[in-house]
Amino acid sequence: MSLHLYIPGPVQVSERTLQAMTQPPVGHRSPDFVSLYQSIQPRLQDLFYTTGPVFLSTSSAWGVMEGCVRNLTRKRVLNCMNGAFSDKWHDVSLRCGLEATALQFDWGQPVDPEALRRELATGAYDVVTLVHNETSTGTMSPLDDLAAVLREFPDVISVVDAVSSFSALAIEKDRLGIDVLLTGAQKALALPPGMALFSASDRAFERAAKVKTRGYYFDFHEFLRNHEKGMTPSTPVISLIYALRSKLDDIFSEGLEARYARHARLNAKVHGWVERNGFSLLPRKEFASVTLSCVENTLGIDVPAFNQVLKDRFSCVIDGGYGKLKGKTFRISNMGDETDASIDALVGYLDAALEESGTAKA
Ligand SMILES: *Cc1c(COP(=O)(O)O)cnc(C)c1O
Repeated sequence: MSLHLYIPGPVQVSERTLQAMTQPPVGHRSPDFVSLYQSIQPRLQDLFYTTGPVFLSTSSAWGVMEGCVRNLTRKRVLNCMNGAFSDKWHDVSLRCGLEATALQFDWGQPVDPEALRRELATGAYDVVTLVHNETSTGTMSPLDDLAAVLREFPDVISVVDAVSSFSALAIEKDRLGIDVLLTGAQKALALPPGMALFSASDRAFERAAKVKTRGYYFDFHEFLRNHEKGMTPSTPVISLIYALRSKLDDIFSEGLEARYARHARLNAKVHGWVERNGFSLLPRKEFASVTLSCVENTLGIDVPAFNQVLKDRFSCVIDGGYGKLKGKTFRISNMGDETDASIDALVGYLDAALEESGTAKA
């Protein structure tokens, strides 16, 4: 029997989504593919809150994250860092041979708009990277405030990773003036892993046109040229595009507002469990993610033993903490297709596992 994944990616994939993937592939240069590609564009644009193109990259999100710094940096990139994913983006920038500066905040803290403004005011940068929802710490940075700061610096291209928040709440790309917004398949979209989605502004294409070392696989202009024909640069993961089309049917039949409200409601249920049991969240409540809860292990429980009970008795798993937070925190996802029933069930399992594992040391 398979395990229900309450980890923050890859998340649980529905039977309906899995079924959608079983259709045979079509030729990726065929009219059938073009109509598949074009049929999903309008709904993708609605989800990205953009009038621009939405691209499909056959890669995990990291491919596009690396591609962004390679396509867009001429001078120097500022990497805002407050957790494992945003920290790694700085390392990736350096590994691409780029001039890069770290704007570091403690893990569990959000990115501070004032600090961002001070740093950008030096005039040293032409690109900023920002992770909206730091999945490693369950921390959501204040995107409206950060975007307002970024709009003060029109020569700086903004790149926002919304990998674990996209489609769980409104991220209004065009209104916020975000140049590049990117996400992955296996987080809140609840698709199997293997695809990333991104949208880029005219300014981003203008910048990329001046960069000689864009490479091929993630070249923004390759994406744009092919997009205009209803295609991707190379053979895409067609079965995941079928799954995405089916997911868009799900999303728009539920309705965006209902989807966002569901994520907030299920997140609050997990927070309720956290508080009832005397745990606390790692970030301050106002910056807590709506898609996952990063729980500080304030009771000193044996997290691996706790998770083993969940697995053996209840056929589900949570995450035992990311990187240096392993064991000090654990993470519970409520993103994607989770329902009141599935989260209520989880809360019951968590209560039972806490008791049965006898792991509460406090
Ligand atoms: C999962 C995740 C990534 C990386 O995604 P991959 O699909 O593994 O490349 C990047 N950023 C954030 C915030 C994530 O949660």
